[in-house]
Amino acid sequence: MTRNLCILGSTGSIGVNTLDVVRLHPEKFSIHSLSANTNVDKLLEQCREFHPSTVVMVCDVAAKLLTQQLISLGLDKIQVMSGENALCEIAQTDGVDTVMAAIVGASGLIPTLSAVNSGKRVLLANKEALVTSGQIFIDAVKASGAELLPIDSEHNAIFQSLPTKAQQTIGTCQLTDNGVSKILLTGSGGPFRTKALSELQEVTPDQACAHPNWEMGRKISVDSATMMNKGLEFIEAKWLFNVEADDIQVVLHPQSTIHSMVQYKDGSVIAQMGNPDMRTPIAHALAFPERIDAGVEPLDFFNTPSFDFEQPDFERYPNLKLAIEACKQGQGACTALNAANEVAVDAFLNNQIKFTDIYKINETSVKKFVSERVANINEVLSLDKLARQYAQAIVVKMTNENSQNEDKVM
Ligand code: NDP
Repeated sequence: MTRNLCILGSTGSIGVNTLDVVRLHPEKFSIHSLSANTNVDKLLEQCREFHPSTVVMVCDVAAKLLTQQLISLGLDKIQVMSGENALCEIAQTDGVDTVMAAIVGASGLIPTLSAVNSGKRVLLANKEALVTSGQIFIDAVKASGAELLPIDSEHNAIFQSLPTKAQQTIGTCQLTDNGVSKILLTGSGGPFRTKALSELQEVTPDQACAHPNWEMGRKISVDSATMMNKGLEFIEAKWLFNVEADDIQVVLHPQSTIHSMVQYKDGSVIAQMGNPDMRTPIAHALAFPERIDAGVEPLDFFNTPSFDFEQPDFERYPNLKLAIEACKQGQGACTALNAANEVAVDAFLNNQIKFTDIYKINETSVKKFVSERVANINEVLSLDKLARQYAQAIVVKMTNENSQNEDKVM
């Protein structure tokens, strides 16, 4: 059977890795649709190679430019659409059976939900969609019968380490009935695991994005440096595996060889290992339950560095602690935290605030919105908007204070 794919966010790191796996298996996968925000050059290159039926550029101007370039190359059969609604159209169309949800941030929520609501196989990379909507997202999966498969390497590893019965009821499975006692979520600790705490406020966006083991988009790279990424994954794990916060333990494992583990009541621990390469979880989910070549070198045990494990240090990673607390506090805290973090990371990447300011913005925003009620998708969207405005106002205040301080020094 050939699977017809829609890749939401095809020009990003996950999108490109997905196409790398697809390229190895032309008989198994056909590309129905692709999407990007503004990156015309990359999407054009992908159109030339994969000949999708439809592509979406969220940005109107970029869509016009892409249309002209496709015409000049004789590729005018490829339909170009623009705008956010078009993302939902390609995610739910009958011609597609599998959707890779790889847009970054909460902008991916509504298109991903469109795929879920229309009962597709949904490969979930876009963790922010699940973090920001939690039970609402899982209820939608249950109602439509969509098949949810995790792409995050940690959640994919946990999925692979679970019994088949639990794999078949992702989102609603009862892990304790399946003999599971704990989910062990591993994380490398990012590029600043051993940096002096006093130096953290001066680190640059490029230093934060230089992850020791993984090559990823800039937002998730900064999240990995603050370990907010592990915090978002903690919340993601709660929903995917239907467990309480106390059933999840974060374990620092700097080598990123073990991608996560499941501990069973009888003392067994099942881990999934491999070289740190996103093509492995992508290939696993694309072909599930088959196994296909991902183009990834096998792990060489004789040249693999030792396996180290550490407790996470919450003084170094306050964002991780904040996210674990938000997970216990409820949906209002998680939605606000995700929104504030997106604003804060963007401001850091634009050199408006310091690395250590990300936590200050996140913490203040969670405190402000922790008690907000979030019971349906409209309430998610409206809290997301409020929390972004609030976080943005803090960014403006911090930027002004920083420039006043610089003036004083000069
Ligand atoms: P990238 O930043 O590399 O790519 C993001 C993709 O989303 C691009 O195609 C981008 O288009 C598109 N995009 C950006 N903003 C919007 C928007 N407002 N509306 C629609 N599309 C948009 O991100 P990654 O590939 O690194 O990450 C994607 C998701 O996968 C994230 O949620 C991340 O947490 C998750 N993930 C990523 C991993 C990785 O290894 N990279 C590992 C595990 C999870 P354009 O190119 O035009 O900007």
